[in-house]
Amino acid sequence: MGTFLFDSIIFGPVRSRRLGLSLGVNLPPIDSKVCSFNCIYCECGWTASMNVSRFPSREQVRIALERKLRAMENDAELPDVITFAGNGEPTMHPHFSGIIDDTLAQRDALAPRARVAVLSNATMIFKPEVRQALLRVDQNILKLDSAVEATMRLIDQPLMRHSVEVLIDSLRLFDGQLIVQTMFLRGRIEGQAIDNTTPIEVQAWLCALEQVRPQQVMVYTIARDTPAMGLQRVPIAELEAIAVQARARGFDVQVSG
Ligand code: SF4
Repeated sequence: MGTFLFDSIIFGPVRSRRLGLSLGVNLPPIDSKVCSFNCIYCECGWTASMNVSRFPSREQVRIALERKLRAMENDAELPDVITFAGNGEPTMHPHFSGIIDDTLAQRDALAPRARVAVLSNATMIFKPEVRQALLRVDQNILKLDSAVEATMRLIDQPLMRHSVEVLIDSLRLFDGQLIVQTMFLRGRIEGQAIDNTTPIEVQAWLCALEQVRPQQVMVYTIARDTPAMGLQRVPIAELEAIAVQARARGFDVQVSG
């Protein structure tokens, strides 16, 4: 089994490890991954480009979502959550804010119990309109894979200007209205050992959490094939041990292995 791309704007619903019955919204193109990161663990494979010109229009997204929600309503199986994820970074869509407004209106009309979640790598939160849109959703899930600059660069391989320091400052602007998501892994990449579970890494991560004060923290590890070879899952017991340290500081931590 290799990495894969989602072949439609709306996908699922799928039973998500972290979110429940999740109906996916894929804003990047259906035939290539568009992202501002090139994470070594990305389930969609290596990043093809940062070109947003082939993203579907706001109207295409609205029509596709309405069609699917009406079909699910007919089947009496509405989603627990409508999740923006898919073949890259959703907040890169030039009309991300408007799409969130449409989705919230559709949710209210057709699936009022469903949450709206966005999984984002946080590279676009320097834009006020992206931040404001993320503040309107129910689950604003932002990636912080390491609070150590060199490790973040190895794991996430940002393709645009990005740094841990600026990221933490930007995450603080949410005033706690965010969920931090962290992928823990180890292995070798570009001839270098990588492990974001070491005591130094975990201390830096805890320190970042103290600054950001998220409403929840999600920790997880590799579950599927990765584009980089030589990466290893972190055993669930080790994830739990990391979670215990965060819980001792008052954070609500969800672990999925
Ligand atoms: S941010 Fe998400 S979509 Fe982009 S490379 Fe990383 S895991 Fe893949």
